[in-house]
Amino acid sequence: MSERFGKPVAEYLRLQQAFYDLAENDKLVAALAASDRLYRGGPARTQCKLCTAALAGRLFRRAGIDYSLCPTCGHLNGHYQDTEAYNLANYGDHGTGHYASIYQDQAREAYDRRRQDIYEPKVAFLIDALRAAGEQPEQLAYADFGAGTGHLVAAMLAKGLTRVAGYEVSQAQVDLGNRMIGRELMAGHGLAETLVLAANVQADVVSSVFHLEHVADPLGLMLALRGNARVRYLLLAVPLFSPATLLQLVFPEVMPRVLGLGHTHLFTPSSLRWLFARAGVETLAEWWFGGDMVDLHRSVGVHLAQKPELAPAAPAWHAMILSALDELQLAIDRAKLSSEVHLVLRFGR
Ligand SMILES: [Zn+2]
Repeated sequence: MSERFGKPVAEYLRLQQAFYDLAENDKLVAALAASDRLYRGGPARTQCKLCTAALAGRLFRRAGIDYSLCPTCGHLNGHYQDTEAYNLANYGDHGTGHYASIYQDQAREAYDRRRQDIYEPKVAFLIDALRAAGEQPEQLAYADFGAGTGHLVAAMLAKGLTRVAGYEVSQAQVDLGNRMIGRELMAGHGLAETLVLAANVQADVVSSVFHLEHVADPLGLMLALRGNARVRYLLLAVPLFSPATLLQLVFPEVMPRVLGLGHTHLFTPSSLRWLFARAGVETLAEWWFGGDMVDLHRSVGVHLAQKPELAPAAPAWHAMILSALDELQLAIDRAKLSSEVHLVLRFGR
């Protein structure tokens, strides 16, 4: 198994530039509050989202929502279910616009830069792992689940992979993705059809990049993929319970990045181990990098700027911390404590 750690934070900083803007920050804090209200109106979640064991106790309460770690698998659960109404409000075509505003880089230049800076490295990581497993990546067929506006599909094409398809629940994003890619490689599907798609998709490699956490039944999706003899590899990226989560709790007036707005549960190293054992997958490669220290930088910076009596000190904070961000984050990544992880998995059958 190969391991990679770290990624320069410069891209994070550029992508998150808007969130250092106080008005933009406040808009997203308000969007979170609206999303939380909808979430709290849903039915109670009494069983772990991942392993269905009974939930007990409370680790913390945020916005009137209790969260706890599953006593069986270690997954972090919010104690309300994410209903279809909640999911559609957060990332369907009729959403609050949060995902749309973050992910729909309509301008050609922004789309291409995002493909190149964010998605091509993911594809390179996947290709390296497939080569190390003895495969010829150019010969394989790929299916990207939760493809959004097709950045990963476009990155695969740019990296020389030709048998590529993307699947996405938002038809608006499918249409935009096909326009940006210039070919009809993206297809829409209903939220309820995800498992059927997984069971039947004709691809050697499936990718699920920040998608599994939005699926109604994450274990069911993994088992459906395992039941599909055609699918042999999975590129998986998921958000993790990490320092970034706790920073969000400490700075409730700062734009949230981890919990809420579609994220009602988070993976932990323990819950990933449980899932992989249950789904019969072997880890070929891990890439640990996260946004924890950018979140620290942004959270403290925005908090200082929000308070008239503290605001003059904000530039001093930036001067103190900016040049150290990469090394701070790398230490967290090396400890495998970062806010996300990318993995290449192989299905054992
Ligand atoms: Zn569990």
